[in-house]
Amino acid sequence: MLKPRWQLFAIAALLIAAIVGFILFLNRPQTPIGTQPLLPSPVTNVHLTMGLPSEATSNVANADDFLIADNSRPYAISYNNSKHIPNWSSWQLNKSWLGTVPRSNDFRSDPSLPKGWYQVKSSDYNGSGYDRGHLTPSADRTKDLQTNSATFLMTNIVPQTADNNRDVWEGLESESRRLVNTGKELYIIAGGIGEKGAIGAQKISVPSSTWKIIVVMDKPNSKASDVSEKTRVIAIDVPNIQGIKDKTWRDYRLSVDALEQRTGYDFLSNVPEAIQTVIESKVDQG
Ligand code: MN
Ligand code: MN
Repeated sequence: MLKPRWQLFAIAALLIAAIVGFILFLNRPQTPIGTQPLLPSPVTNVHLTMGLPSEATSNVANADDFLIADNSRPYAISYNNSKHIPNWSSWQLNKSWLGTVPRSNDFRSDPSLPKGWYQVKSSDYNGSGYDRGHLTPSADRTKDLQTNSATFLMTNIVPQTADNNRDVWEGLESESRRLVNTGKELYIIAGGIGEKGAIGAQKISVPSSTWKIIVVMDKPNSKASDVSEKTRVIAIDVPNIQGIKDKTWRDYRLSVDALEQRTGYDFLSNVPEAIQTVIESKVDQG
């Protein structure tokens, strides 16, 4: 009588142990698939083909060098949340960006800025005496309405004097599109240096000068590795003042090296160092 009961108890205990063991096995910690943590993806934006000029990142903590380079935007910018203007804009220009749509003229706040940041309004410039100066020009983005309209976001705008914006600066913008219409592809970077004042209650910074670099490539879809020692590079730095109407962009040419000194940036950083050394030391004569 006693012996079979004891055996039954032993079998039940073994069964319970097996079930508990099986449940523990099912709930075992999962082995991760791939042991590498996810790395941030490299910047592959076409407008940054020649490299990032600054340490810009899209981290909200990096508020004064904040990278906006989503693929829906037809240019890449570094925004400065203290100055309320872009530090620089960078864009590709070839025939594929040019069409026939009219200037949309819809200057407006950029809702894509991080929560809590002031969104500069078009009206903030009213009565300031300064133009709403595009870094990436409206006329470089005429293939469709949406693309053109993106250039009127206030994060692409800096306060520019009329003589700078409408004469000297505009002259090189027109020359750029003339080059593109001969089949060239351009990689352009533009921004401001210094501060000669500020406008409005939000103290929107007015740069002392506006600079631009243009890398002239022979054909569309060029890469940084296609840049050679013979590649034409145009660099200018134009004082943001009145009274320069009788000057042209050619009067304000300088070397990229000189501009790197003035801005603290490293331009064309994706171009091999030995080639940068050659092309950045020359002043355009074209
Ligand atoms: Mn302009
Ligand atoms: Mn450089």
